[in-house]
Amino acid sequence: MSAGFHDAAENGIAVDADVIIVGSGAGGGAAARTLADAGLSVLVLEEGPYLPSASLGYKTFDSLHALMRNGGQQAAFGKAAVPVVQACVVGGTTFVNSAIIWRLPEKVLAKWHAEHGLADGFRANELDDAYALIEKDMFVRPVTDSVATGSDRKLALGAERAGIEHRAIHRNEKDCKGSGRCLHGCHNDAKQSTTINYLRRATESGAQVFSHARVERILREGSKAVGVTGTIRGKGPQAGKPFRAHAKRAVIIAASVIQSPNLLRRSRIGLDNSALGNHFMAHPGTSLVGLYSEPMNPWSGASQGYEAYGLRDTLGVKIETINVPPEVAASRLPGFGEKYLSMLDRLPYMAIWSVALKSEAEGNVRPSWLLGGDIIRYEMTSGDFERMRQGLKRAAEMHFLAGATAVLPGVHGLPGTITADQLSVFDSAPLDGTGYGIIATHLFGTCRAGTDPKHSVVDAHLQVHGTPNLYVMDASVFPTNTGVNPQHSIMAISTMASRRLASA
Ligand SMILES: Cc1cc2nc3c(=O)[nH]c(=O)nc-3n(C[C@H](O)[C@H](O)[C@H](O)COP(=O)(O)OP(=O)(O)OC[C@H]3O[C@@H](n4cnc5c(N)ncnc54)[C@H](O)[C@@H]3O)c2cc1C
Repeated sequence: MSAGFHDAAENGIAVDADVIIVGSGAGGGAAARTLADAGLSVLVLEEGPYLPSASLGYKTFDSLHALMRNGGQQAAFGKAAVPVVQACVVGGTTFVNSAIIWRLPEKVLAKWHAEHGLADGFRANELDDAYALIEKDMFVRPVTDSVATGSDRKLALGAERAGIEHRAIHRNEKDCKGSGRCLHGCHNDAKQSTTINYLRRATESGAQVFSHARVERILREGSKAVGVTGTIRGKGPQAGKPFRAHAKRAVIIAASVIQSPNLLRRSRIGLDNSALGNHFMAHPGTSLVGLYSEPMNPWSGASQGYEAYGLRDTLGVKIETINVPPEVAASRLPGFGEKYLSMLDRLPYMAIWSVALKSEAEGNVRPSWLLGGDIIRYEMTSGDFERMRQGLKRAAEMHFLAGATAVLPGVHGLPGTITADQLSVFDSAPLDGTGYGIIATHLFGTCRAGTDPKHSVVDAHLQVHGTPNLYVMDASVFPTNTGVNPQHSIMAISTMASRRLASA
């Protein structure tokens, strides 16, 4: 293990620090880096294992089991079950994400200022400073030709012909080899997950990162947060033992949109707050496939290389190319028996595009008191499905404009394949979740920030209302979803709030 990274199951856990950070993903990693750089002693406690790239596998189902929370089987329940994918490893979900970088759109920030009173805390100039630092630290750049794919070029062509704004995706990576396996963790240490970048930088400034350290309660003296307790997981002489750690200056919860509110609730904090665990939001996404006459090899190249973003303000959808391991792509093909096998033969000629929606639906998360774990309730609205099916229709249209010979809609009740004159089938696609293969990977909102202590969990500086020294710094503080990929804005908001904390 690199210096500064420790397996709690082997060595136990350090017990004192200026700042304890729970969770090591986008929010926790950026906070650790900022606070350690400012000279504070920092302890990062992460429930999942530390996985060096040499230990990563190539089989999707093994990877899901090793990297993802609940082995990849976490889901939100409404009329349909929607998989909610989160990693549980050092680096959090940045370890498995596609490295896409977007600043928070100005319109979204303006709404947060106007409707949630965040003008004082979420200052545009401070956020701009944080974005610039992250972009420099994390080598952010557009996808290069060496890892761009046929699918990327088709989306560029289709979007151009359809008159929809588009660009090569900007990513935080260095020397990406285009192996199309971001979901498995990066075998080449090219993706700048917090494991590779911000946690490593933090440890160089003295931070200690403990894996297999599951935090279960926040400790308070009076109303003030003073530390945490939890249980060591993993395998090793310390596994299964309880631990207690103390923080002189602050406890920062960065355990994600699902786990942060539940950690507060289990600690009996914010129970009278109507926002705690509520306003759960997402960018649910589905995909469709274009069939081309030239090879696309949808398992190689940048995992996600190109995007059409011009429908965000009208339909609230963003369309991105996506390359996945062949077994994942194969699971999405229509038909059975001979029909399925003939589809499988054509897999190399398929270009897969995802359609992600800025959904208007809100759900909630609660702890499962009896079984442990988290319960997520979420139901997309019929308006969401109306916009999603129109988004799919526009994506299909772009495939045909780019030269696809057929499109596989991937929607229950629609034909397995359609031709260019059948685009209208999308108008009768179902208006509920039972007809779509949807997953949620961008999550928001269960500890929303705001000035009203009854209807928001943290204030504009991300301190929990009424609990000095306790902060939340992850995507749960976002008062709305954003319409763009969130890791950059999570890191920027966490950097901004940590800077203030360090200088307080
Ligand atoms: C497959 C996939 C692809 C994605 N691609 C992109 C992309 O390309 N660009 C983008 O912007 N976003 C992407 N995202 C989303 C992005 O990665 C997340 O929004 C972001 O990482 C969330 O940051 P976070 O700090 O809120 O939580 P996380 O990054 O999930 O980190 C939370 C951490 O806290 C730990 N934790 C939880 N509870 C406890 C506890 N009790 N004790 C100790 N530790 C705990 C968790 O194990 C986890 O490591 C993707 C997501 C997925 C699933």
